[in-house]
Parts: sequence; C-alpha cells; structure tokens
Amino acid sequence: MATAEIMQEKVAHPEIRQTQCFIGGKWLPAASGKTFETIHPATEEVIAQVAEGDKADIDLAVDAARAQFDGGEWSQMDARDRGRLMYKLADLLEENAEELAALETLDNGKPIRDSRAADIPLVIDCIRYYAGWADKIEGKTIPIRGNHFCYTRSEPIGVVGQIIPWNFPALMCAWKWGPALAAGCTIVMKPAEQTPLTCLRMARLAQKAGIPDGVINVVPGFGPTAGAALVEHPRVDKIAFTGEDKTAKIIQRAATDTMKRLTFELGGKSPNVIFADADLEAAVAGSHFGLYFNQGQCCTAGSRLYVQASAYDEVVDRLAERNQARQVGDPFDPATEHGPQVDQAQFDKILKYVEYGKEDGAKCISGGERHGDQGYFVQPTLFANVTDDMRIAREEIFGPVLSVLKFDDVDEIARRANDTNFGLAAAVWSRDISKAHLLASKIRAGTVWVNCYNVFDTAAPFGGFKQSGIGRELGEAGLAAYTENKTVTVSL
Ligand code: NAD
Repeated sequence: MATAEIMQEKVAHPEIRQTQCFIGGKWLPAASGKTFETIHPATEEVIAQVAEGDKADIDLAVDAARAQFDGGEWSQMDARDRGRLMYKLADLLEENAEELAALETLDNGKPIRDSRAADIPLVIDCIRYYAGWADKIEGKTIPIRGNHFCYTRSEPIGVVGQIIPWNFPALMCAWKWGPALAAGCTIVMKPAEQTPLTCLRMARLAQKAGIPDGVINVVPGFGPTAGAALVEHPRVDKIAFTGEDKTAKIIQRAATDTMKRLTFELGGKSPNVIFADADLEAAVAGSHFGLYFNQGQCCTAGSRLYVQASAYDEVVDRLAERNQARQVGDPFDPATEHGPQVDQAQFDKILKYVEYGKEDGAKCISGGERHGDQGYFVQPTLFANVTDDMRIAREEIFGPVLSVLKFDDVDEIARRANDTNFGLAAAVWSRDISKAHLLASKIRAGTVWVNCYNVFDTAAPFGGFKQSGIGRELGEAGLAAYTENKTVTVSL
C-alpha cells in the first residue's frame, strides 16, 4: 500500500499531520521556521515535514515545564490525582492503539504485528504501572541520636530533559514519561529525528487526558542542536538518555557544568549462551527472536551467540532454516515478521559489517544482502565460524546480523561472555538449572535471561553494567531515578 493511502486509511486523524513542536500545550512552528523530513523506511517516501526545533524552542519548552514545576497546577496536585490522570492517559492510548500502531510502523518501519502485539501494549502497561506508583512514593522515619525526629521525603527531581532513540519510539517515550509523571516531574522530550510522530501524538493524548499544559513538552529536532541545548540548559535538572554510548559520553561532558542528574540506557553486545543440554528447539527459537526481533535494532540483541561445541552444527543448521522461513516484506502486511531498517545510514552500516564479517573470515550461512530494490531492507543474516576478535563479534551492529561462536566449558564461556565493554543483557539456555544460575551470577550484565530472551516487564528494572549505562529504568528503581531524597530533622 502506498504511503499516502496508509496515511489516509490507517492514521487518518488530522493531528497526525501535525508536525510542529508541542510546547505549553500548543502546537508551535520551530522559531527558526525550519523543518525536516520523516520518511517511511519501506518505501522511502516522505511522510511529513517536521518542525526542526533548536535552542530557542528548547528555551520555550523549558520555561513551560519550569512554570508547571515551580508552583504551577502540577506541583500543587495531589499525588492521587496525578495517578488518576495517568490512568486516563493509558485509557486514551488504549482507545487509540490501532492508530498509534500504524503510526509507529509508518515512521519506524517495524512490522505492524509487532507494533500491535508488543510496542503499543507495552506503552499502555508502562503508563498504567507508573500511574499506580504516583501515590505510593514514601519516605522513612529514621531513629537518629538525641532528641530528634528525623524523616526523609522523596521529592521530584524537577524539570527533566528526555532524549530517546528511534528503535522503539513510543515505548521509549512511555519508559521516560511514566516514572517522571508519577514522581511529579515535568518533561521536555526530544524524540529521535527519524521517528518523531508517535511521541507528538502521545503528547496530544496526554493533554486530552487532562495532564496540564506544560507538563509534557515535545521538541523534535536534531541531537547536536535541540538535544545539546536541552543537555546544556541551566534550568533542566536531569537528563534521561537512551541511545549510543558515544552520544552519552558527549552528554556526560556537556552536563558537567550544571551538575545535572544523568541516567543512561545505552548499547550492548549481548552474549547468548546455548549449552548442549538445552532444549535446542526452544533455544534456537529464542535466539532467533533475541536477535532478529525489530530487525536486530534492539539494544539487548543477542548478537554474540555462543554454542557448546557438540551442539554447534545442529544449532547453526536450525537457525539457517528459521532465517529462510522468516517473512521479510511490507511492514503493513500482518504476515510480515521482518521490516526495513530505519534509515539509509543504518542500512549502509549493517551491510558494511556484513563485509567486515566476510573479510575477517567468518562464514556467511544465510542472508548478507539487500532484500528487494526499494526501502532499507536487509536479509536476516547468519555468520558461523565467528571468533571473538572479529569486528562482527565485538562491535554493536544494531541490525539483523547474528554471529555464532563455539565454546567448550562453563569457565571459558564466563570469561568470553564478559570480554566486552558492554554489559546490558545476556541469556543462558540449559536444562541444568544450577549451571544456568551459576553462569547468570558470573555474567556482568544488567539483565540475564535463563531459557528465554527479551522478556520485559514494566515492574522489572532494566539497565546496563559497564558502558551500557548508568542507573535503571522500569520498576521501583526506575521511579527512584526521578526523585531526590530530602532528610528533615526536627528538634523535639
Ligand atoms: P543516538 O545516540 O545517535 O541518538 C539517540 C538520541 O540522541 C537521538 O534523539 C539523537 O537526536 C540524540 N542525540 C544525538 N547527538 C546528541 C547530542 N550531542 N546531544 C544530545 N542529544 C543527542 O542513538 P540512535 O542511533 O538513535 O540509537 C541507537 C543506539 O541506541 C544503539 O547504540 C542502541 O544500542 C541504543 N539503545 C539503547 C537502549 C537501551 O535501553 N539501553 C534502547 C534503545 C537503543
């Protein structure tokens, strides 16, 4: 279906065409008057011209967020009422789920079956989960020395700048908004330049839910301009960032002068370990999903698959069969499992890594080419005979390229799994649960899945060891990242 028809039929709401900044509850053009294009990655057609916000727009958005935080309606609101508005937002997201799913697929290119079954349901769940927390943020009383009454309060951090990537645009929005709103913070969000549309639509739904104007502001634009202005802004208290480690290091340096609180969710090169005693059918299905889901554009992608030597050939054969059967094509076809990469830059980067794999001596078992002649489609690609030193085994590709490596015993695999600067996620497949727990305890990563992959729940904290991040999102830990602890001591 042509992009224009999709716009007409599936995302017909007039506000979808709305591509201005959302500041203080109003749609505003960028102060510079500039716009940029967002495209549908399956057809390379332009979907919309989007306001290109920069410093002037960020300043306005911060003013709006500050006004709500510093004595505005939001700051005066009972926690229970904040929660009630968040439940209302979750209901509105649910009512508009089909439209949001279509918009997400249009902007990002991910298969509509994933947008419908995973992204948007997880968005709704996240907002509901944190709505429940709004009136349950408690302090402690502390028995200190002397005749004193000492207690703590968990107070909102303030105005938070949130910068997100393009791989799960709506979900990253929910992961950032949920805990911030529950804690009582106000928000200036900069969505990824590739995928600004769902975030803008969600901001409008938040307004419809009754969340006061200025609590959520969205400024689309580019990282080095709009993003950098947010990071450097003296009246922003925290930056929550998801994206590449290189960008995080730029942000970390830029945020030093204003001593902003920082949380980072960054990349990975996650080890996925299959022991020969595993249920191989389940392990192969889970490993296929763990890498190819979302076209490999997952920070948790299990891109280093270690298979115990005696099961190696069988696992490679079964993975190849699955790759052949994977349905690649139009993301709006409900049968499609695998859509295009998000843009030309990602497409080029992935095919460059395929070349590196070949140059470095790995064996390309399946894929390795462009799929079709339109859009940014890359075939699901499988490399065998990969060794630890190869670039495809060391660097984050962020695409559908799976490297299969061989190992012999549990001590060797723990060392090799940890031989990376990243530490976001890992998985272990074995019927020997003691062995699986032992390896899980040895792997330096924020999440370890045992006999499963990519199981996410809003209640379970998520984040990285080492250069995969700072702090945690989701669960109670994710909420704590949006609060400051205050100690009050009273002389009795
Ligand atoms: P990116 O770092 O290039 O961009 C992410 C966001 O940062 C975008 O909104 C971009 O505009 C902004 N940005 C870029 N330069 C900036 C600057 N100087 N100052 C402020 N903001 C700036 O990353 P990407 O290419 O969009 O996303 C892919 C990366 O994100 C991968 O490395 C992936 O592993 C990681 N990722 C991590 C998680 C996680 O939860 N750990 C989730 C999704 C993606």
